[in-house]
Amino acid sequence: MERTLAIIKPDAVAAGVVGKILSRVEAAGFTIRALKLVHLSKRQAEGFYQVHRERPFFQDLTTFMSSGPAVPLLLERENAIAAWRELMGATNPAQAAEGTLRKEFATDIEKNAVHGSDSPATAAYEIAFFFSALDVCPRD
Ligand code: GDP
Repeated sequence: MERTLAIIKPDAVAAGVVGKILSRVEAAGFTIRALKLVHLSKRQAEGFYQVHRERPFFQDLTTFMSSGPAVPLLLERENAIAAWRELMGATNPAQAAEGTLRKEFATDIEKNAVHGSDSPATAAYEIAFFFSALDVCPRD
């Protein structure tokens, strides 16, 4: 079993599709180990995305991610990191495959509905960013 950090981003929360996305999470065989609703500050969003601090869209991205509530999720499944990224689809929804969350719910390359960790090291950092041990429900 592997764990990944997913986020239902502020655009999707504002659009009222949290329930639809959670249905897709469960249908794809992920177990939700932790979940919360958070409205990040700009500074917190900058901390979360610190790996992107040199990228030209860093200011826009962190302003967007602090623009309203978001729903971080700790997901568990076999091969969870790759499986979640496949379900999300390409970063740019114009290139996202049919059946992916971004194809269905994203607006553009920035407001793309969902986030997912891209490696085990990133997942460990991102899970710890949002959830303490007490927030995480074990299976049994
Ligand atoms: P991801 O792993 O598919 O989420 O994509 P990246 O790690 O490359 O980028 C992180 C996030 O930054 C994306 O999910 C988008 O919300 C945002 N982003 C990526 N590329 C751009 C861009 O060219 N412009 C803007 N404004 N945001 C972007």
